[in-house]
Amino acid sequence: MKARVCPQCGAILKEDAWETLNETADGGFIIDVYPAFICSNKQCEFVERIGEYP
Ligand SMILES: [Zn+2]
Repeated sequence: MKARVCPQCGAILKEDAWETLNETADGGFIIDVYPAFICSNKQCEFVERIGEYP
């Protein structure tokens, strides 16, 4: 399998879980966790989400 590379900096993308924190209208929080390709270059911070949910 061919390694994916970052379109921004050319570093290897690692498959990992990514979390986003979303504030709800009533003041709560929803943590959304999904698989993503994350750039191994920490200064780049490129993240490509794997799969889209309808
Ligand atoms: Zn990158």
